[in-house]
Amino acid sequence: MELSIVIPVFNERENLRPLYELLKEALVPWSANSEILFVDDGSIDGSTQELRELARSDPTVQVLEFVRNFGQTAAIAAGFDHARGRIIIPLDADLQNDPRDIPRIMEKLEEGFEVVSCWRRDRKDAWLSRVLPSQLANRLISWISGVHLHDYGCTLKGYRRDVVQHIRLYGEMHRFIPIFATWAGARVAEIPVQHHPRRKGVSKYGISRTIKVLLDLITVKFLGSYSTKPMYLFGGLGLVSFIGSGALSAVTLYQKYFQEVKAHRNPLLLLSIFLAIVGVQFILFGLVAELIVRTYHESQDKPTYIVKGDS
Ligand code: UDP
Ligand code: MG
Repeated sequence: MELSIVIPVFNERENLRPLYELLKEALVPWSANSEILFVDDGSIDGSTQELRELARSDPTVQVLEFVRNFGQTAAIAAGFDHARGRIIIPLDADLQNDPRDIPRIMEKLEEGFEVVSCWRRDRKDAWLSRVLPSQLANRLISWISGVHLHDYGCTLKGYRRDVVQHIRLYGEMHRFIPIFATWAGARVAEIPVQHHPRRKGVSKYGISRTIKVLLDLITVKFLGSYSTKPMYLFGGLGLVSFIGSGALSAVTLYQKYFQEVKAHRNPLLLLSIFLAIVGVQFILFGLVAELIVRTYHESQDKPTYIVKGDS
């Protein structure tokens, strides 16, 4: 199997058939060795029946049905787990991504890139509530992760299967796969793609997703920088707290002996005690985190490095 198309579906009944038609056209060059994998993320609008219908009439269509709505990221993850293709291309079910971009993604992958990220250069969504927050988030993600892309949020992307095989996705993290992949040594390319306004059905998201994405970014940054050495972060913060505490104690003593400020009346003493306690807490946190890291790696024989050629 060469190519698997993975499509998360949540209440997209009216979009499914037109999407299927477009996909069939775009997949002509791979008609003998491609599959279309729909992941029905707990739809309640009849999408499920529509998908079963498609699967019945076309053996290259597979449908995976969730027992309830688990979210787009989970749907994509399930698609990755069940896809059989050497190359995996996820895309939205709402016709906002254009299947006609698939051949260009394939070309780029053939050039030797392991990941092709797509950039909705002319994005057709509400500007204030979607495009602007997403642009700001993209800049921030780019800056913090050090992986420079214009558009992380576009579902349409292309992956070599071995890149995504071992990546576990939580929260809204499917958008961060190019980052994880880069950290794992993959080469990532970006191409501009078409984007269309949503014509049927409704968007499942609002501005709150931007907040989730920003919180995910903190997790991603933490994992990227400290996942094998959390003590450096927590212990570092703990030491800073201790230094602050020591300095404030010194000031308190100085003021007591040279400026006649009674220590028990000096708020700096309280602050110093507070910082000492926080410092102890941070260091204990760090120790617990170190235990967790060891459990994580050693319980599954997961090395803390990646050798070239392995993935
Ligand atoms: N989706 C999903 N589960 C969810 C929400 C969305 O599988 O809980 C799917 C949805 O059917 C669509 C894709 O994820 O195929 C993107 O969703 P949407 O178009 O609502 O997002 P937007 O384009 O507005 O960011
Ligand atoms: Mg959409």
